[in-house]
This record gives sequence, structure tokens and C-alpha cells, in this order.
Amino acid sequence: MFLDAGLTGAYRFPVYGVLVDHEEGRFVFDTGFDIEHIRNTVGWTDPEQTAEQTIPAQLHLAGFRPEEISHVINSHYHLDHCGGNKYCKACDDGVSCLRARNATIAGAERGDPVLRGELRTRPSRGADQGRATDMFTPRFETLKGDQEIASGVFLFETAGHTAGHYSLMVKLKNRRPMLFAADACYSRQNLDLMCIQAGNHDPAAARGSLQRLKDLAEKHDAEIFFSHDADSWPKYSRAPGFYS
Ligand SMILES: [Zn+2]
Repeated sequence: MFLDAGLTGAYRFPVYGVLVDHEEGRFVFDTGFDIEHIRNTVGWTDPEQTAEQTIPAQLHLAGFRPEEISHVINSHYHLDHCGGNKYCKACDDGVSCLRARNATIAGAERGDPVLRGELRTRPSRGADQGRATDMFTPRFETLKGDQEIASGVFLFETAGHTAGHYSLMVKLKNRRPMLFAADACYSRQNLDLMCIQAGNHDPAAARGSLQRLKDLAEKHDAEIFFSHDADSWPKYSRAPGFYS
């Protein structure tokens, strides 16, 4: 979990996905991992994911169906952040085109070697075999630079963990803005120590992005939500709970 602490053995951490229900669209930021994919490919020793922790079940808890999601946004394309993309396929021609016009995928990744490796190991589906892109998200956009993708919904570039990476900030009526770090900052302790986690594509850039997160939080008086923080996790409101 810390660059200078080395590999310290098994450590179980949570993974989040965020639904933003907005008048301009329904956005899901990161979709967690797919347990079958994990078991079949990377073979982690003891991944845990209950049926209720899948994207369809979490959306159901919040009162939605996957077909109602207009946009999936991936902070980056590591397997614990895009494994549930396959459920949100309103854009997949011939499957459910209810939201075809809007269902673009904002893939924040650009040419990362881990990404390429993971795509090769994804399970193939009939007609999709041989696709060079993510078979679960046949329509996608790659973004560059900071973006306001809907009123009050911002993507900030925080590269380093991977070659391309976005953190999400959402402004709400009744509380401080929420800044979802994704893997630009795993835990509160990383932030407090200003120490990046191990396993970065570009450690210097990752350190810069950690500083950027801190600066953004100060500038916007935003609360940072850490991607893989077992201590913070119980304090976060989870579906069917929400922030407004
Ligand atoms: Zn991650």
C-alpha cells in the first residue's frame, strides 16, 4: 500500500463504484471487478464479491437498471475498476439500444501496458473475438484534459498510477463537493503521509497527482473519497443510501 514499505503480504481492501444520478445523465464511475474474470485469469487467492455487490444488484438497490445508465466512466482500465462495464451495455448494438445515442464510454486510459495485458485476458464472446478494444464497451470515447461532463460533475486528470487516470468531483446541493480519488490515492494514510502506493506506471507523476488531489480538495473544500481504504469504507454511505 505504500511505495517505500515494499510488499507487505495479503491485504483485503474495498473497491467502489459511484452512481451519479443527474438531470443530464446517469453516470457510473468505475464498476469494480468481475469475480469470474478474477478467478479465471489473474487467480487472486481469495477475492470476495457477494451477489449483492455486483453492478446490477447495486443499481437495483438504488432503484435503477443497468439499461438506464447513460455513461460509464472508468478512472482507468485496471481490472478492479472496469469489471462491471459488461452490465452497462445500452450501447451494445442489438442487445438493448434504449440509450444508444448517449451511451458512450469515457475510457480514461491511453496506451497503458497493463491495460493491454488485461484486454487480452478478458473472456471472449462470439462475434467480439478479435476486437482490439474492450469488447464490453464497443462504443467508447477517450478523453484528454480536465472535463466538466455535466453541470457540476468534473473529471480531473490524475495520471501516474496508470498512463491515463481520472478522478471525479461532484458538486452537490446539501454538502461539500465529493472528490473520488480512484487510484490516485488508495487511502487516507497515503494522503496524510503524502506517500503514493506501490505499483505505479509513473511514480513521479503519481506523486504529482497526489499533490493535485490535495490542492483540488483545498481549493473546492471537497471531501476526498479513497478508492481502497478499509478504514474509511464503513463510513461511506452505500446503496441504497445516497448523498444529495
Ligand atoms: Zn484499484
